[in-house]
This record gives sequence, structure tokens and C-alpha cells, in this order.
Amino acid sequence: MSTMKPINMRSFRQKAKEKKNSMRRFITKLEREAPRGLDKKIAVLEKEVWQETDCLSCANCCKTMTPTFTNADMKRIASHLNMSVNDFQQKWLRKEKGGDRDWLNKTEPCQFLNLKDNKCSIYEVRPADCSGFPHLSKKFKEYDHIHKQNVELCPATFRLVEKMMSEMRSER
Ligand code: SF4
Ligand code: SF4
Repeated sequence: MSTMKPINMRSFRQKAKEKKNSMRRFITKLEREAPRGLDKKIAVLEKEVWQETDCLSCANCCKTMTPTFTNADMKRIASHLNMSVNDFQQKWLRKEKGGDRDWLNKTEPCQFLNLKDNKCSIYEVRPADCSGFPHLSKKFKEYDHIHKQNVELCPATFRLVEKMMSEMRSER
């Protein structure tokens, strides 16, 4: 059964401020010593998270972070917008200076976010990074550093880690 309620960002920010450090320490412990069947346990909790999380009342990812655009993403989106990849890059993207030299949005919120209803105007062709975000179903070991950042930015990630902490505490 869905228990979805709109996300109250102010109360989320407050809770995240209080709990982010202990959540990050908890994730660090799991990085060092992951219990057996961790990914399976997470998959069960993730389902609960999505039954409780109304992303359209949040959109904090689209408002405060940038996706990375792969070559395939840029080709697909530019063609959807009847633009050349070059024009698309010029208009909206910048190339990361260091790191992986990824293509990123020039500005936040994302230019494709409709701020009136929090919907993505290119939803069907959005970057793979967006459709996979916040990557809760990926292997925990490969995305734990992302979850550490996102506990204070993404209510879904926060909920997942909160559930993991209470489940693992009760197993002790
Ligand atoms: S994925 Fe996270 S940050 Fe993005 S809209 Fe959903 S809850 Fe909010
Ligand atoms: S492309 Fe769409 S889903 Fe991705 S950040 Fe922009 S508005 Fe959000």
C-alpha cells in the first residue's frame, strides 16, 4: 500500500542536518564490512522508499545538482529538440574542468525542469544519469560515496539509509 505524502523540504533539511554525520559514519562502516546479502536487503527497503516518496513534491535533484550527459544522451536529447549536438552543448552545457571532463549543465535548476509542477520537459529522453538517480538499486559498494553526498540532498536516499540503520540495529 502506498503511504505517499508530499515531501516537506524544510523539515527534511532539518532532519538531514541532524543526522547526516551519523548516516555517513554508518555508510563508512558498511563500506569496511558489508553484511551478507546487503544488496538484497536494500532492494526490499528501496521498494518501501518509493512507495513513500513523492518525487514530484521534491525535485531537489533537478534543482540543485547537475546530471552528467553522455554522448548518447546528448545525441538523443539534441535530436529530440531538433538541434545539433554542438548547438545543444553551446546553449546549455559546460565541460568539467578537472575530474572525468564530463559534460554538465551550466546552471541549476536544470533548464528542462518545469518549476510550476516539478516535471521534466524532456522526461522520455532525459539523461541516463537522471533516470537512474538516486541509484539506490545499484550495487551499494559502487555507489556508497554517492549516497554519502545525497543523504542531505535527496529525501529518498535519506529514507533508505534511515531504514537500513533501524533494520540493522534491530538485528543486533
Ligand atoms: S530522487 Fe531524491 S532528490 Fe530527486 S526528487 Fe526524488 S526524493 Fe527528491
Ligand atoms: S533533465 Fe529532467 S530529470 Fe534530468 S535534471 Fe533536468 S529536469 Fe531533472
